[in-house]
Amino acid sequence: MLNLFFPNICRGCHKELIEGEKEICSICRHNLPIAGFHKNGSTEMSDIFYGRIPVVHATALFYFKKNNITQKFVHALKYKKAKRIGLIFGEWLGEELAECKEYQDIDAIIPVPLHKKKLRQRGYNQVAGFGEKIALALQKPYIDDVLVKITPTTSQVFKERISRIFTNEEVFAVQNASKIENKHILLVDDIITTGATLEACAKKLLQIKGVKLSFATIAITK
Ligand SMILES: [Zn+2]
Repeated sequence: MLNLFFPNICRGCHKELIEGEKEICSICRHNLPIAGFHKNGSTEMSDIFYGRIPVVHATALFYFKKNNITQKFVHALKYKKAKRIGLIFGEWLGEELAECKEYQDIDAIIPVPLHKKKLRQRGYNQVAGFGEKIALALQKPYIDDVLVKITPTTSQVFKERISRIFTNEEVFAVQNASKIENKHILLVDDIITTGATLEACAKKLLQIKGVKLSFATIAITK
């Protein structure tokens, strides 16, 4: 009866999960296209920001392509209330970052925020669980009351326009700035494509005294 309302199926391949599996079967887990720049040392993601903003480290768990398996999981996380996917990927990346010497001087984790209207609609920030689990693994605070989104934007508009237009339009703002003065912040998001969102957030955070920034996302568009 419970299965009728909460079908225990894999969000990637829609096959039934076996005991011990949650949201993702072992085959999909194995098939996820790993990006893992924190492990292989690739600068593919930080290079996106070259000449735009200073970034200490940048990493993503997986590659994202239209209709690939990563998209299925991110889609379920964002639009199908599968919040547990964020927790699973946050634990995954958190455990790995805890083993990386490059990420040991992170002082706090901050999520890319949703506008309050969007938050009401969706009911949760899809990147919150991911960020909280990374914070837990690194034993650092998760801070979601410093960076706020003050202008609602639809994701499609955000993708299609150039980042500079949006940074000028003041999409994001900072409050309680003293909380993160002189800190190395790990800013987390679900997907990086052009880097426009992370750049707009970074420009705000970097106005705070002594802030250094690294980025981590669930996926990077290939
Ligand atoms: Zn599967």
